[in-house]
Amino acid sequence: MGDGKKRGRYAPTPSGDLHLGNCRTALLAWLSVRAAGGAFVLRMEDLDKPREKPGAAQRILESLRWLGLDWDEGPDVGGPHGPYVQSERGHHYDDAIERLLAKGAAFSCICSRAEVAAASSAPHLGEDGPRYPGTCRPAPDAAPKQLGRRAPSIRLIVPPGLEGFDDLHRGPQRLDVQAEVGDFVIRRADGVAAYQLAVTVDDAAMGITEVLRGDDLLSSTPRQLLLYRALGLEAPSFFHVPLLLGEGGARLAKRNGARSLPELRAAGEDPRAICGHLASLSGLAEWGARLTPAELITRWDPARLPRLATCIA
Ligand code: GLU
Repeated sequence: MGDGKKRGRYAPTPSGDLHLGNCRTALLAWLSVRAAGGAFVLRMEDLDKPREKPGAAQRILESLRWLGLDWDEGPDVGGPHGPYVQSERGHHYDDAIERLLAKGAAFSCICSRAEVAAASSAPHLGEDGPRYPGTCRPAPDAAPKQLGRRAPSIRLIVPPGLEGFDDLHRGPQRLDVQAEVGDFVIRRADGVAAYQLAVTVDDAAMGITEVLRGDDLLSSTPRQLLLYRALGLEAPSFFHVPLLLGEGGARLAKRNGARSLPELRAAGEDPRAICGHLASLSGLAEWGARLTPAELITRWDPARLPRLATCIA
């Protein structure tokens, strides 16, 4: 860290087994780092305990290894920036939230989801729910509000205006976070850090210089950039890759018939065939190629990646 070396990561949520889509993202993140001689970090994002599936975290690591990926730091290999499991990093998130509260950059909010939905007139931004209309946001210099007995969530104060960045794959991106999302949650009412906060704090603490991930997270990036700024942290570069989709353009998921990596493995599939297939879907190999991730390093060429989501069913 700090030696100018590229540092990338893959940060799965253990809500189920990996499918080809997740694996492709992991493979591309790995290739981008390895082609530059950089370090790769594996971080398990297990803050959403109700969504976690027993044993999934372990199976994710096994599937990635079976495919031929490796990591320099991660839950099972340790490293200088651990722990690499988000549920063990609560104090990092609490420290960041305390700093934001102390400098007046965040506030407590007692609105329920239903209240936010009822009060918000703006259209919803994708899956992120309605825009927060600022109900509990303190007026400048006002005395702290009496919050009553309901446990509060914490929200970041989002300034008005466009937040922009140059995506390494998608080019210039702009989003008015205040107009589209509003002041967003950084700690949920149950005390658990929200994804936006945790991912920002962790990527910064782990010295990540490039975040390569699925473009379903493109609209999250401006929120994370606001957090980098509010926390005085240096932001990485962002590289959002299109998703692999299932039949009819549906999201790849078990319920849509996508086979998981453990299922493919149990069926006797060759990991080199899977890796070659993922590479050919990424413009990096010919159809039918059988290759290990290591054999793909010299073929890495981000300009060949597809611009649009690819259907694989
Ligand atoms: N944990 C998130 C997911 O599995 C990814 C977070 C990220 O790459 O920023 O969707």
